[in-house]
Amino acid sequence: MAERVIPLVDQRSAALRPAVPSAAQAAPATGQLHDRLSRPLRDLRISVTDRCNFRCGYCMPKEVFDKHYRYLPHGDLLSFEEITRLARLFMQHGIHKIRLTGGEPLLRKDLEVLVAQLAGLRTTEGRVPDLTLTTNGSLLARKARALKAAGLQRVTISLDSLQDEVFRRMNDVDFPVAEVLAGIEAAQAAGLAHIKVNMVVKRGTNDQEIPAMARHFRGSGITLRFIEYMDVGATNGWRMDQVVPSSEVIARLQSELPLVPLAATAQGETAKRWGWAGADGRHDAALGEVGVISSVTQAFCGDCNRARLSMEGRMYLCLFATQGWDLRSLLRSDASDAQISTAIAHIWQGRGDRYSELRASLPADSGAGQRRIEMSYIGG
Ligand code: SF4
Repeated sequence: MAERVIPLVDQRSAALRPAVPSAAQAAPATGQLHDRLSRPLRDLRISVTDRCNFRCGYCMPKEVFDKHYRYLPHGDLLSFEEITRLARLFMQHGIHKIRLTGGEPLLRKDLEVLVAQLAGLRTTEGRVPDLTLTTNGSLLARKARALKAAGLQRVTISLDSLQDEVFRRMNDVDFPVAEVLAGIEAAQAAGLAHIKVNMVVKRGTNDQEIPAMARHFRGSGITLRFIEYMDVGATNGWRMDQVVPSSEVIARLQSELPLVPLAATAQGETAKRWGWAGADGRHDAALGEVGVISSVTQAFCGDCNRARLSMEGRMYLCLFATQGWDLRSLLRSDASDAQISTAIAHIWQGRGDRYSELRASLPADSGAGQRRIEMSYIGG
């Protein structure tokens, strides 16, 4: 069999330098920041590590992330204090929701200390931020209580299969699914609310498990969400025929169990909600709901209000961005909060990213896929 060759361009070194306004030009945040497409800034995803203990083929394939791969040295990572300072400035621009991601965020030592610092911040309306975390679940059983005690409100667990053999093959490190399920139980026991499970569906790999996953989480108080397999990064060898469209997922589910569409709960919500129907054909809240995230077949760029902050302090305006803005250089200079805040405002105001809407029109040989940042670097 021919060896799989994966083109990897390390984009971590490519950073955009934000213009630093003078002290006189620095303006106070209004909480009402909009980009060039009139999209507000509401959601901040903070990646706290570039490391993961799994080697899922669509995210950190073993062929690339092997023992020779050079992760960032610790001194390059933002400290908890630097992350919290930036998060506070972002919140003054209207951020309501903060999601911690990785790599695998629970690999970052003492993460609960950062959670406690972020939980102490307030939105422009004086409210506690919606503070959540995306994890592969492998360390959740050990960490759930401490995270909840520190102020984490919610958690999302990535889980692509319930079959131990398939799961071990997909994570490619032989990690047993039972330990992730124990982590989910621990999260429930610790009192974390609105727990979600994200399943990336890849045709021919795990799509046969859609009904079993649905039945497992139906009525459990956990919302299962099916995510279309995406062309994130340059290392996963993505092909369109591996995508199972959300419409097909819903049709497959409805052929077994009745579902009814539900209204969105918030603007910019990535998932379309479907509720399990009871005997009367209406949504039965006790049975719960599922979500579908149609990142490929139904782009939601028009409502995208998310900014991403990498572990080394680069601000990314899109999951498919090729470059990020170096905020760490500002943090480690003598720039004031007002100057950094104004630089963030200018970056967001210049944003016009809408990759998923444009995907179909990009020429196949544009090379765009080879320049993208890896998902393990800025989170999903
Ligand atoms: S492709 Fe980029 S702009 Fe569009 S929804 Fe995804 S992250 Fe947002």
